[in-house]
Amino acid sequence: MYLHVPFCAHICPYCDFNTYAGKGDLIPRYVGALEREIARHGAELDGRTAATVYFGGGTPSLLSPAQVGQLLQACRAAFALAPNAEITLEANPNGVETDYFAGLLQVGVNRLSLGVQTLSPRGLRALGRLHGPADAARAAAAARTAGFANISFDCIFGWPDQTLAVWREDLDRILAGEVGGSPPEHLSLYSLIVEPGTPMADAVKRGIVAVPDDDAAADLYETAMGVLANAGWTHYEVANWARDPALVSRHNRVYWRNGDFVGAGAGAHGTVAGRRWMNHPLPETYIAAVGRGEQPVATIERISPRVAMGETMMLGLRLLEAGISPSRFTERHGATLETTFGSTVAELAEIGLVTREPDRVRLTRRGLLLANDVCARFV
Ligand code: SF4
Repeated sequence: MYLHVPFCAHICPYCDFNTYAGKGDLIPRYVGALEREIARHGAELDGRTAATVYFGGGTPSLLSPAQVGQLLQACRAAFALAPNAEITLEANPNGVETDYFAGLLQVGVNRLSLGVQTLSPRGLRALGRLHGPADAARAAAAARTAGFANISFDCIFGWPDQTLAVWREDLDRILAGEVGGSPPEHLSLYSLIVEPGTPMADAVKRGIVAVPDDDAAADLYETAMGVLANAGWTHYEVANWARDPALVSRHNRVYWRNGDFVGAGAGAHGTVAGRRWMNHPLPETYIAAVGRGEQPVATIERISPRVAMGETMMLGLRLLEAGISPSRFTERHGATLETTFGSTVAELAEIGLVTREPDRVRLTRRGLLLANDVCARFV
């Protein structure tokens, strides 16, 4: 289950997520609407178990532990929530203290994704973030003190004027446990994408800021791969590393395996049994629709078998070790990988971007650096 929290204290200049500043007053009504939507999905999907719950945003840490608990209670009432369910909440490092994290643990959250972004004050300014490096360290330490044993850090590389040395220093300091007293269990490292229509895109266009070009971004990425490999981390997905293979994000693995998930909340997407929907993006519209007893859905589509197969390839190739299993492909789609995509896979293997093994197809290191292009070949 993915629960979207579309509220932020302010909007970062590079952000194109569905989130809004200055609408915090809506949160209590929004939580009530989410509870109703969750109950509705539970009734429709009677008997299904949810293995993971993910509070994403926006800034889910703007919810109080009591509100998070209310939503988890709604999930438990609607679905047979697995006893060992992974329950993750994204938190920004501003103003979150030990009591807050203790409250989250108490209501059932067992994994945190902390938006560290970078330890460089200059980088945080360039990204328009409200927190400073000390806030990230303080938040991570508070989470540890409260008892969180599974913490992921989100970091961004490729921000304006970032150098390899600064990036390397971020990674070294994180691995040395300088952020919160011990290294995190998991790292998500995202390359900054300058999305059209954002203030950052405008600043780049006007020449006010310059972001690293593709080659420089690839150097930053390869630096991260080298540093984390030397430290013994598992690079299991294009942008994700785990300190131990058992610590991969179980929630995101559902996406990469092209599995079913319920998305609830404003602008959330969900896919269940070949039906995909997207909810109304505006929180007010979403709350009003739920209040009228309607499905808060903006668009709905049936996924054709051909599109579903392409998505299995596109998403599964992102899993670097596991890749795509031909037998699982057949089990899922009733057609063989060979008859559906054999020639594309052969072509990509020929130019060294994927390998074909009896039990899997996966990206090569070269393919990894061109992952988006390779994956796009299947859709
Ligand atoms: S905190 Fe995250 S979701 Fe909110 S505006 Fe910044 S980047 Fe977007």
